[in-house]
This record gives sequence, C-alpha cells and structure tokens, in this order.
Amino acid sequence: MHNIDIELVEMTLDVMKYAIGRITATSPELGRPKKEEELRKLVGETVTDKGIGGERAFELFKDVLVKATVPIDHPRHLAFVPAAPTRAAIMFDLVTSASSIHGAYWMEGAGGIFCENEAMKWLVSLTQLPEGAFGVFTSGGTAANLSALVTAREQWRKHSENLNEKGLIITSIGAHSSIKTMAKVIDVDLLLVETEDLMSKSALQEKIDGLNPHQRKRLFAVVATGGTTNAGIIDDLSGIAQICEKEKLWFHVDAAYGGGALAADSVRHLFNGIERADSITIDPHKWLFSPYDCGAVIYKNPEQAKDAHAQEGSYLDIFKDEGAQGFNPSDYQIQLTRRLRGMPLWFSLAMHGTDKYKWAVEQGIDLANLAGRIITENSLVELVRKPSLSCVLFRRIGWFPEDYRNWTYKNHREGFALVTPTKWKQGSSYETVARFCFINPDTTEQDIRAILESME
Ligand SMILES: *Cc1c(COP(=O)(O)O)cnc(C)c1O
Repeated sequence: MHNIDIELVEMTLDVMKYAIGRITATSPELGRPKKEEELRKLVGETVTDKGIGGERAFELFKDVLVKATVPIDHPRHLAFVPAAPTRAAIMFDLVTSASSIHGAYWMEGAGGIFCENEAMKWLVSLTQLPEGAFGVFTSGGTAANLSALVTAREQWRKHSENLNEKGLIITSIGAHSSIKTMAKVIDVDLLLVETEDLMSKSALQEKIDGLNPHQRKRLFAVVATGGTTNAGIIDDLSGIAQICEKEKLWFHVDAAYGGGALAADSVRHLFNGIERADSITIDPHKWLFSPYDCGAVIYKNPEQAKDAHAQEGSYLDIFKDEGAQGFNPSDYQIQLTRRLRGMPLWFSLAMHGTDKYKWAVEQGIDLANLAGRIITENSLVELVRKPSLSCVLFRRIGWFPEDYRNWTYKNHREGFALVTPTKWKQGSSYETVARFCFINPDTTEQDIRAILESME
C-alpha cells in the first residue's frame, strides 16, 4: 500500500505541474492533427492487460498526443468560436472533478448547485427577464437549444388538438446548425427566413402570413439568434418578440455565442427585446471564459421546463421528497446525471467580479473594431460587412476559395495561427471570405497585423 501512495502522490504532482504549466503558458504551441495510424505508430498500445503505468501514459500524452490538438485559447486561434477560459475557472474545473459531486439533485449536490445558481443569477440578470426567470447549465448550446425546444413543443402539445400534429418552427438561415439538427431530433419541421443578415420583424411576419392554415396551426415557435456564429449578427429581437406575443408563439433566443456580450455596455442595446423571450441559450464556454463544456438554458417560466423534463422513477422519488427539497437541475433540461459544469464559472466570477467579465468581453469587441480599421487601411483586403460583436468578415482581393484554404493550412502547418475561411451569402450566391472571431483578450494588434501580412 505504501508504494502505491507514493506513486499516487508523484502522479498528482506531475499532473498539477502540467496543469499549472499549461494554464500559465499564454501562447501554447499550436498543434495540428496527425492521421490515426501515425499516432498509433508513435504511442503503441496503451490499453493492455496489466496497464502501461501512469507515468508512461502521461508521457505519451504530453509528448505526442496533446501536440496533435489545437489549443483553442491560443491568441492567434481566431477560427470558429475560440475560447479563453480564465485560469481561475480551469483550476476550479479540476476542483469540480476532485469533489465528485452529483449535479442532478439538491439532496446530493446542494453546496455545488448553490454555486451554480449564484452564477446563473448573474446570467439571468444580464437578460433582464422578469422576476421568476431562471435556468440551468447544460453541456453546451446544442443541449440548451434542445431542452428549450422540447419545452416549447410540450407547451404546444398541451392543447389536445395539437397532439397528433407535427410541429413547425421558423428561424433564419443565419441560425446555428444545431437548430436544424435539434429540429430533426424532436421531429419538427423547420422553415427558414431567407436571410443571413438580421431577421427583421417584417420578414418574419411575411413568412407567417405565407403559411397555409394547416402550417399555421403546426407553427409553435420562432428561434431568433442573438449573435450569429458566422457574423455576429443579432436579429431584431424586439420586433420578433412583438410578433411572437401577437401570434402566441414560443420565442427562443439562441445567444450561445453572443450571450456573453449581454455584459458589454457598448452593445447591450442591440439585444433589446431579449427580455421578452420564453427561453434563451447562452454558452459560457464561448464568450464567458469557462472551460469546456458549459452551456446554459434560461426560461422565463421554469415551471414549463419542469413539466417537460422532470424524470420520474421509483428510485428517483426520494429526491422529490420534502426532506430533500431544493432546486433540482435535472428537472429543467435533458440530462439526468450531470457534472456541476457551472462551478468553474462561479469560482471565476467570485474571484474576479463581474466588472472584469465586462472588460474582457469589451476587449473582444474592441479587437474586432480594431481589425476592421486595419483592414480598411490595407489595400489587399476589404471588409465584407462592418464588424459585428467580435466577428469580422473580410475578403482578400483577387483570391479564390482554394487560396483561402491554402492560406489556412499553411498558417496551421507552421504553427503560426489558425484562421479559417467561411462563406457569406449575398443574394443567391455564396462567396468564400476570411473570418476573425475574437474571444481571447490576450490577442494583440501585432497578432492581427501578422495574420494579415500572411495574406500578402
Ligand atoms: C456554438 C453555437 C451553438 C452550439 O453550441 P455547442 O456548445 O457547440 O453545442 C448553438 N447556437 C449558436 C448560435 C452557437 O454559436
């Protein structure tokens, strides 16, 4: 036994040393994928009858495997939606694992759920939803959108005339792919307002007016986007809220990426109307500096979510008992057993204060505006549209789609940067363009200039 303990202590120190080294490295090596056969050749068999030992396995991870990954928090990783978890949040993610708390029910998880709920209260306050609104942390935006849409569908199905109808949702083509995929999961049809720019009140009304009576009967929800993933565009939330109230439709706002910007005074007005939503998705693992994975779904009336999601079972009854009474996160989203994934956000908020969060989000917006100015002054590139939130779409004059691809791969291969192209819809055609998305407040003007120089 004695030997095992020493080994365990050594392993713990090794792991802590690695973790500390990694989170204090502001510019970690930008790794890239290798083929599976290549990785297997390098690491050999790792899962064997007797085990290969922690030291060896950890060595393989540090020397080979982690180098075949991209650190998404790298200051020159501006592809997709990057991440920049605070050091406090990462350290507390380790604490969350070490504490082995079941996050489903108050009976077992009270102290941890209390932490999550403190962080959730701040998120809810950013939305300005009315008193009584509340939410839970999920594995991400996809799970949050699914949980919200199931709640909406169940509310609609409460009316017996809808019991055998297939539901219908309206969103825009700027909506995230997860809306389309989750519509498939719950087997409802999706109609798209044909714009990648903001979904306006009139475009939505036109779409609804164009439905035949049976389609109109099947329509139960509108999904607006609070910051499109591609371009940071915020739909006309006030106008859409008005229509949803008039037409008695569930109003969901997917702010998985943009939700962090609710904390930023400079752009908060763009989200006006979000306080009239029935449900909202925000991903703290995108723009609120939490480690993966951490999403959130917020409901104007959480009882509606409970109606849709609370699980029943003979061995679960005890959790609903008076003695265990408290807030049960599992009642409000699709997952039962769950990690307390809001705890890292809570610790980081408690440590830094919310002003620091406002500052860090504003930093991303400032970087986007700065990139916009630099692009305007550079004759090789031009803006496709004004920067929105922390997204910048721009074209390299004279480039074809394959030039953007080659440029992306070259920068990645050289371990310099990961910036990927995207497509932007203009009229009926799609153009390949370059895209920056800023999250990491440590990205510098020099980083932006150097990336633009790589397009010369
Ligand atoms: C990223 C994103 C999602 C999906 O969130 P995951 O956390 O990746 O599941 C949904 N909607 C929007 C607008 C997003 O940006």
